[in-house]
Amino acid sequence: MRIVPISLPTPFYIGPVNVYLIPQDPVTLIDTGPKTKEAIEALRAGLRKAGFLVSDIRRIVLTHAHEDHCGLARSVRDEAKNAEVLVHSWETGHRIGRLEYEEHRALLVRAGVPEDEIETMRRMYEGVRIYADSFADHEFIELRDDAELEFSSGSLRVLHTPGHTPGSCSFVREADRTVIAGDCILKRITPNPVLSPDPIDSTKRFPSLAEYLVSLARLRSFAPTLIHGGHGEPVEDYEELFNRYLRAINERQSLVINLISKDGSTAWQIARQMFPGADDVHRFLAVSEAVAHLDLAHDEGKIALELSGGTEMYRRI
Ligand SMILES: [Zn+2]
Ligand SMILES: [Zn+2]
Repeated sequence: MRIVPISLPTPFYIGPVNVYLIPQDPVTLIDTGPKTKEAIEALRAGLRKAGFLVSDIRRIVLTHAHEDHCGLARSVRDEAKNAEVLVHSWETGHRIGRLEYEEHRALLVRAGVPEDEIETMRRMYEGVRIYADSFADHEFIELRDDAELEFSSGSLRVLHTPGHTPGSCSFVREADRTVIAGDCILKRITPNPVLSPDPIDSTKRFPSLAEYLVSLARLRSFAPTLIHGGHGEPVEDYEELFNRYLRAINERQSLVINLISKDGSTAWQIARQMFPGADDVHRFLAVSEAVAHLDLAHDEGKIALELSGGTEMYRRI
């Protein structure tokens, strides 16, 4: 079973996205790229080079529902005459803009983000939403952890690897321990654990960084020989990257704890100190990053957390 990477342009800061064609029956596309003219053209060209047309695709599998990965899912599905679309049920971003959720707003308020900033973030995500069509719940087939995606020759094992988003999934070709990991594993940057409501209890935050650490360790248990990420080159030495990620996470945690002022700080205040230059587009990611590290430090008993006037205050112990 072959895995054919196709790189597609995106309008986002991160640059091109990698999608993967499995040219076996049923012809499968893992991720689709954003909904732009440039991306669909590059997708057509990449498929053509491998001897396929969009209409040959029978199955679309999404690593997660960020616009750069899922944006063309509907267009491809329609052109391919109702190919199946598979995504994990915890991945809710595909339905409506992430910040439109009242739950998201509540999480930002609790993190101490001022009203006008929340409004700016909402507008920014309205802008991003144009790069993906929404799907209704019944239009998806649910990806389940440990399921096998069967092909005429070989199969891919589904691994639920939450962290970057709650429903992020990776796919393992066990014969040679090759993994397709979406944004769970990126060679040049440590992926962001994005602030999300918990899919099981939306009044709570998803413990993204704690879950991410479990996902990293779970991937490690497969001793991958090659990992194809959602952006950039493949990773050939996961052990080295794994240790680099852990060091980066530990360093960031120490930094975050040190930024807590003696009267306590909100995640927003810490995000502004960590990334003073972050513009509109990156402030949401900056808050996500601060919350993720503060939550983990709190879970590990290194800092205290109290609710005061609807806002969460982190304190040093
Ligand atoms: Zn992503
Ligand atoms: Zn991505």
